Amino acid sequence: MSQDYLDIRGARVHNLKNIDLQLPHNKLIVFTGVSGSGKSSLVFDTIYAEGQRRYVESLSAYARQFLERIEKPDVDEIHGIAPAVAIRQKNSTRNPRSTVATATEIYDFLRLLFARVGRTYCSKCGRPVSKDAVDEVAARVLALPEDSRWYVLFPIRGGGKKKVDKQLKERLADLRSKGFNRLYQDEQVFEFSTPESLLDIDFRRPVCALVDRLVISPDLHQRIVDAVETCYRESAEAVFERADPPSSKGESREQLWFSERFECRQCNLEYLPPEPRLFSFNSPFGACPRCQGFGNTIDFDRDLIVPDRFKALKDGAVAPWTKPRYQRWQRDLLDAARDTGVRISVPFYQLTSEEQDFVFSGAGGFGGVDGFFRYLERKKYKMHVRIFMSRYRGYTLCPDCGGGRLRSEALNILVGGKTIRDIVRMTLEQANGFFKSLQLEGQEAAIAGELVHDIGHRLRFLNDVGLEYLTLDRLASTLSGGEAQRIQLATSLGSRLVGTCYVLDEPSIGLHSRDTARLIRILEHLRDLGNTILVVEHDAEVIRSANHIVDLGPGAGERGGEVVFQGGLRQLVSNGDGSLTGLYMRGSFGIPVPSHRRKVRPRRQLKFTGAQVHNLKNLDFAIPRDVMTVVTGVSGSGKSTLVHNVVYEGLQAVRKGTGNAPADAVRLPSRRITGHAYLDDVVLVDQSPIGRSPRSNPVTYVKAFDAIRKLFASTRDARSRNLTPGSFSFNVPGGRCETCQGDGTVTVEMQFLADVALVCEDCDGKRYRSEILAIRHQGKNIHEVLQMTIDEAMKFFIRTPKVINKLSQLAEVGLGYLRLGQSATTLSGGEAQRVKLAGHIAQAKSDGTLYIFDEPTTGLHFDDIKKLLAAFAKLLEKGATVLVIEHNLDVIKCADWIIDLGPEGGDRGGHIVVQGTPEDVLRCKESYTGRCLAELPGI
Ligand code: ADP
Ligand code: ADP
Ligand code: ZN
Ligand code: ZN
Repeated sequence: MSQDYLDIRGARVHNLKNIDLQLPHNKLIVFTGVSGSGKSSLVFDTIYAEGQRRYVESLSAYARQFLERIEKPDVDEIHGIAPAVAIRQKNSTRNPRSTVATATEIYDFLRLLFARVGRTYCSKCGRPVSKDAVDEVAARVLALPEDSRWYVLFPIRGGGKKKVDKQLKERLADLRSKGFNRLYQDEQVFEFSTPESLLDIDFRRPVCALVDRLVISPDLHQRIVDAVETCYRESAEAVFERADPPSSKGESREQLWFSERFECRQCNLEYLPPEPRLFSFNSPFGACPRCQGFGNTIDFDRDLIVPDRFKALKDGAVAPWTKPRYQRWQRDLLDAARDTGVRISVPFYQLTSEEQDFVFSGAGGFGGVDGFFRYLERKKYKMHVRIFMSRYRGYTLCPDCGGGRLRSEALNILVGGKTIRDIVRMTLEQANGFFKSLQLEGQEAAIAGELVHDIGHRLRFLNDVGLEYLTLDRLASTLSGGEAQRIQLATSLGSRLVGTCYVLDEPSIGLHSRDTARLIRILEHLRDLGNTILVVEHDAEVIRSANHIVDLGPGAGERGGEVVFQGGLRQLVSNGDGSLTGLYMRGSFGIPVPSHRRKVRPRRQLKFTGAQVHNLKNLDFAIPRDVMTVVTGVSGSGKSTLVHNVVYEGLQAVRKGTGNAPADAVRLPSRRITGHAYLDDVVLVDQSPIGRSPRSNPVTYVKAFDAIRKLFASTRDARSRNLTPGSFSFNVPGGRCETCQGDGTVTVEMQFLADVALVCEDCDGKRYRSEILAIRHQGKNIHEVLQMTIDEAMKFFIRTPKVINKLSQLAEVGLGYLRLGQSATTLSGGEAQRVKLAGHIAQAKSDGTLYIFDEPTTGLHFDDIKKLLAAFAKLLEKGATVLVIEHNLDVIKCADWIIDLGPEGGDRGGHIVVQGTPEDVLRCKESYTGRCLAELPGI
């Protein structure tokens, strides 16, 4: 019975209203509902938390001892739960060496592959390097002419020296004691047992020991093996010399030389045999010794030495030589440049690489930048010189490994003609192609076919989730949350785990509508392997593809926490009337296409020229002021690069530049920026937490708490006890509980598990001392006020406009359900972003400000998006400019201006496909965004 279902009874975590739920196994189940309705509380904090508990329970006695200390979710019963794996958007990579290849385990497979079937080539002559395995030697010898006669020998080390030394004597004695009774030199055998016979040997020339004499016949295999093994044991080499005299006079005797050593016979260079750790940059054995596997070193950074590449040499492009103290070097540079014909009046970036080399390495009597720093190196005992030098040091690509992070020996080994470094530099798409066409033969196919299959499998999934533009060596720490989540998803698929409950958090984030169908196929694939997939999602297409839909609501916070609907799509659309989601999916509700768009005025624009960061192809573009611009394009097309690196960082740089340095002296991510003088401020509203302390919360962020504290301090009771607004603060000592310092909780560290917050025993979680809690305003004390939702507080403070004004901003961005005192650390990324938005709307001065948002619809239901767009409209009314990165078509269709990047991700992106109004984009056949817009109703 309960085996077929995941059966949940009496769930009461956070706002959940004691709900019962039966979920089918091995299905794709989507949880939806407005933001704050309780989706995460149900999926993550109840189902996943319990699945995780059961999983730990199944592990070991050691893990179990911590189990009772893990808080049990507030739920009566859960039956039929499988071990749960959560795939969340948090990019939690902290290892600075972790890359896409290591995070997906592909690198582990690559290391094994290279160790098993990699072929080593001599770095000097390019010939294959090999060693002779005993069996191969035996096969070669057996193939010699039948009945031919051979000596089996090994060379004696120490022979061939000018003098017969002690070492050689000892070696000979040793051989003799082991029973090697015959030596061999120049076609002659010498009996070891008679001292006289040794007199005829010239020990200054090479000498061998005789191991065996063979007459080739088919039944000799074991005897050859024994002989070769003996030779290898004694000297790592085996020599076969023909005992029959050569057919014609003057010819030397036939000789075969085998070695157990891995070396180039031509160059006498020995190589490291491939083994997995040789290819590991996390292992001291494989890591590049210079940079220890990080790929970069701290060294003089050319970008710091020539910070402005638009400057000419004569105008001081080389920054250290603009200092009066080092003017002599600047003069030398100009003189030497004139002599050698290096151009001094053109911008630095236009110099040829030879000319730039001249500047850095010098020529003739001129030492160049390198010579300059060598000169300073000798004066390092002076403090100011050390400080001066440190200004020009930065992380630069490691000169030994060129960023490849491996010791050079690892790069002598090839598979399919490529080194492991060549492979990790490929994009996932190129790597997929490479492994598809990789042909292994015979023996190699047998020992590595499975590996190639596993690698190909994973690469295919990574391509399928729309990440084909990432390179395998991309640092995991630079991935966006959505990219990191999709990598985890593809990795789970690759590991082919079954009977598991996967829990995902808005996997469509960061993905263009074009690629949603691919994502859905992946989820279905994971399900069809025999897993249950629980997805929190707002995307209409994902909702449509679900086997089972659970809609939570009806509202958020206290007004939510109930199951409004569950069942299939058809039921949701036909009779899910109580469900907002149903109404939107049916089309009864919707976000209308704006009847008119704000006008873009050509003279009011921020212009960027020549943007070339990451994959951007020297772009010129403009952001119109006073309107809402949306930047679109498939994942990896360059949206974040354009908005964060070029616009935001560029504006920060020029705005700083107008202060004390001339604007053209700062490093710009684009060649030029104009129009920024009209901006009063640039604000990035991202999803980072609004505060790390549990004491920051929504009311303190929008500054509504100041007015509330004043209100409490002005009550008669408070005045009679000389209390001030500060007494009602939990940030300063005075009125707050000192045991928990106003947190209401104390944090206990839990070994290897996440820290746990326990309710403070002294104040019982009320955060204040009892005499403060005795003060009441309209019958409520400060703690009770902090427990109210924003919507409740708006009614409560109806007669205090100062408080209402601030709180209403939070309500307007759809956060009316939050509790005033809810700690910032419990807010989701999307909630934090909207609290910030409310804070900015609350500050009256938004005219002349550019607001930048990165996927603000994360975590938002259709109904919340409506509120978000209204909040944007409010900012715009106040005279602000809004710039948004977004995939959500409801937002895109409401844009005044669109910059569509693409056409594809990575190197095949970075172009502007089209810029204009949504109507312009719609008409552009090449634009994926245009095609998706064209399918929307009402546009
Ligand atoms: P959803 O995932 O649907 O957006 P959540 O499950 O995150 O909603 O939140 C449901 C309600 O529970 C909200 O009112 C939210 O503020 C509250 N909540 C979430 N996490 C916590 C927490 N750690 N402590 C207290 N309340 C919380
Ligand atoms: P989008 O925001 O459209 O998904 P991005 O701007 O993140 O695209 O990426 C554009 C290109 O730049 C991609 O090829 C991406 O791999 C590359 N890229 C982005 N960030 C970095 C980084 N920190 N280091 C190296 N390459 C990066
Ligand atoms: Zn060689
Ligand atoms: Zn306390």
